[in-house]
Amino acid sequence: MTSAILPTYTRYPLAFESGEGAWLTSTTGEKYLDFGGGIAVSSLGYTHPHLVEALNRQAQKIWHTSNLFQIPQGEAFASRLTAATFADFAFFTNSGAEALELTIKMARKWNYVNGAPERFRILTFEGAFHGRTLATIAAGGNAKYLEGFGPRVDGFDQVPFGDIDAARAAIGPATGAILVEPVQGEGGIRVGSNPFIRGLREICDDKKLLLIFDEVQCGMGRTGKLFAYELYGVAPDILATAKGIGGGFPLGAVLCSAEAGKGMVAGTHGTTYGGNPLAMACGAAVLDILLAPGFFDEVARKGLVLRQSLAALAASHASVIAEIRGEGLMQGLRLRVPNGEFAAAARAEKLIVIPAADNVVRILPPLIVGDEEIREGARRLEAACRHFEIASPEKLQGAGG
Ligand SMILES: *Cc1c(COP(=O)(O)O)cnc(C)c1O
Repeated sequence: MTSAILPTYTRYPLAFESGEGAWLTSTTGEKYLDFGGGIAVSSLGYTHPHLVEALNRQAQKIWHTSNLFQIPQGEAFASRLTAATFADFAFFTNSGAEALELTIKMARKWNYVNGAPERFRILTFEGAFHGRTLATIAAGGNAKYLEGFGPRVDGFDQVPFGDIDAARAAIGPATGAILVEPVQGEGGIRVGSNPFIRGLREICDDKKLLLIFDEVQCGMGRTGKLFAYELYGVAPDILATAKGIGGGFPLGAVLCSAEAGKGMVAGTHGTTYGGNPLAMACGAAVLDILLAPGFFDEVARKGLVLRQSLAALAASHASVIAEIRGEGLMQGLRLRVPNGEFAAAARAEKLIVIPAADNVVRILPPLIVGDEEIREGARRLEAACRHFEIASPEKLQGAGG
């Protein structure tokens, strides 16, 4: 098929026309169970009545006014987010990368206003993903994403994820912040250990550095908490989130303490669309659902149901599944067969899962998924496993990872 879209994606020959809850309907009328959520974005599933109602209501009033004016919907949404978190301030963006760009600018500015402009370097971790802008590909350090886009934005040093001693050793006189995903998403659902994440907080306190959490993927309820930092009992100074926050409407946010944000005075940063009334209506509607009493307990409980199903699957299909890892409804299967082929086998069973690095497929059901849908997903994963065991055992040979 010829396409007028710049071909930076290898797309599956599949398009969807509609969706409801955890289910998608393709343009050819086939129903798929969606454990990908458009990469952890459609976290309340499709056509959630509360979200549709909120968007329609706002669409009939006003979509956009710009940040030159007061945006009451944004004021209210920011107040609710800060009340529910460590943060004193929120800034709204249109994407995850845009949020990450701001966290990087904030770290530099904070050191600058503290009289230490030389402390512009940020420590990041192998396997990280922070976006596709020039600064965020430098922060992520993935050679594949950097190639051909030099010169590389300066100011990022990288050590292995999980290695607290390496992190401590890498702090130099020019280091001003540490940036980490508490749970790596694109890196293959790697959950930061308690000693690692808490250790980073200690390093930042010792050395007077800012701790930045990238919760673009693991935030907004995915792990069974509003934000994953709650799992560790330590708060960052700055947090970036996006993906699930708008329930499918493009939206991101940076949350920060008053201290971390102190250099960000009028004129230091901007965005034309960010936080417009339509986006704020969608974000507020998502938050209504997330903050309803008992919602996160349900996510955590369903995370355990999913985890148990996956454990049973791994036990009976050890030639396909090497390891299960994750938290809440953010789970990964590290495979002994190529993950892209496994995701294709799952699609053949009408189940969407998403490949990640380290030969993992990500299992990211909507947070409103039902127990029976989880069991149905597990049955389809089992059927996908059998593609490799029965139909083509030779595929087990060429396994990656
Ligand atoms: C997806 C992602 C980003 C980038 O978000 P975009 O909206 O694609 O710019 C950044 N960090 C993490 C952890 C992500 O998963």
